[in-house]
Amino acid sequence: MRLILENHDHRYAVEQMVTMLLPGDPVRPDPDDPNRGVVTLLGRRAQAVFTLGDRQGVGEASAEEFGLDTPPEAKALEQRLVKMAAYRAITALTGRPAWGALSGVRPAKLVRKWLERGADSPACAQLLTGLYDLDRDKAILAIRCAQESRAVDALLAPGDLSLYLGIPFCPTRCAYCSFISADVKGSLALVEPYVAALEREILWAGEFLARRGLRVRSVYMGGGTPTTLSAPQLDRLLTALDRWLDRAPLVEFTVEAGRPDTITAEKLAVLRAHGVDRISVNPQTLSDQVLRAMGRAHTADQFRQAYALARTFDFSAVNTDLIAGLPQDSPDGFRATLDELVALAPEEITVHTLARKHGSALLSAPGRQEALPDAQAVTQMLAYAAQVLPPAGYRPYYLYRQKFMTGAMENVGWTRRPQSGFYNIVMMEELHSVLALGAGGVSKDIDRAAGRVTRHTNPKYPKEYLERLEDILAEREAVLWPIN
Ligand code: SF4
Repeated sequence: MRLILENHDHRYAVEQMVTMLLPGDPVRPDPDDPNRGVVTLLGRRAQAVFTLGDRQGVGEASAEEFGLDTPPEAKALEQRLVKMAAYRAITALTGRPAWGALSGVRPAKLVRKWLERGADSPACAQLLTGLYDLDRDKAILAIRCAQESRAVDALLAPGDLSLYLGIPFCPTRCAYCSFISADVKGSLALVEPYVAALEREILWAGEFLARRGLRVRSVYMGGGTPTTLSAPQLDRLLTALDRWLDRAPLVEFTVEAGRPDTITAEKLAVLRAHGVDRISVNPQTLSDQVLRAMGRAHTADQFRQAYALARTFDFSAVNTDLIAGLPQDSPDGFRATLDELVALAPEEITVHTLARKHGSALLSAPGRQEALPDAQAVTQMLAYAAQVLPPAGYRPYYLYRQKFMTGAMENVGWTRRPQSGFYNIVMMEELHSVLALGAGGVSKDIDRAAGRVTRHTNPKYPKEYLERLEDILAEREAVLWPIN
């Protein structure tokens, strides 16, 4: 695909649209390429003409259409116009995707902004389906998640933040994973020093937050798989947190236990003793054949046992993750998994769509991609989830999209609790700041009034994190919530 831009320089924005809608036709500066797009800005209008082989699609957009969603800055409006014209021209040739012209990771954040500006739900639905061309069910999903995020937003006060603790180890590596997680057998020597370093960072965080006058509203220990650590190691980390963490303002304390093969009664007892009230136990699928195909080193029965064990402790919520689109899965297989999960009645079920990530064994190993269900099958799986979860008492509460998801679909968290998953919402909707400790942690100092986000990223690899810890702490003092 060759791109020609007239009267503007919004190449990146147009390329983003082309990549989303024509993933198999990369943009390149080849004058002989028969596929091409011409995108022209004409003041407060844009026009696009795309040619694919011998077919041509034409699209137009004008500033008057954006209404409530009109960007205040001229450059941002231009960008919106050329993207929308390109979308209309391309989809005249390809047909329209379920999420229409929305390419962002956080559809609900967009809707929340409209709600904050005084729009009601029908007006938001009109913008989503009319202007952005979403399927009606996706529009409703985005609006419902935006409403959940507004309810969480009402609980927040200035100076609130959430704390993330990263454990970058897993017992083995899943085939679809591109996360920088060290499999524990290959990095056994690093685990103890890592726990000691994180303990040090947790104690530092207590002093840092006290100096800044900041208050922790939720804690999330994720990874990797935190329960890869032993019970005494988990106890050490949580004891360090107990030394300074004020529980009174805490809304939620999650540990993503994740892999059933790492969960023991001793570890769950440690978590409960330290006030953890929400955990994840993730089957991904309840088909042993699919588990094998995805390189997950546990069986469906191990999930059933781990889940039953977790239920003997009084966690307020157990979340279970599923993935639609796994290798060798089918709509029938997905239905069987979901039906069994619904019968178990966890407080939360998160339905992910498989993301075909670069760097994962799934994309690099020969023959693995052929076993993946196609976009139509994944659409059926997600439609089944949307059909059976509401009558079982679940409602969608958070939503995000990633690059390279099969069928350009979404991940949705469903809950049957009155209170939505707090951390997932504040983090995904960027409602407040996050201080992230441990390897790969991305801290975000968010000033919503000024529309400013300052990021600080810890080194991804545990070895580098261990070597640089003192520098990391000094950097954070200078960069995040600076004291003037
Ligand atoms: S459990 Fe999660 S982080 Fe660990 S290897 Fe599997 S997908 Fe990656």
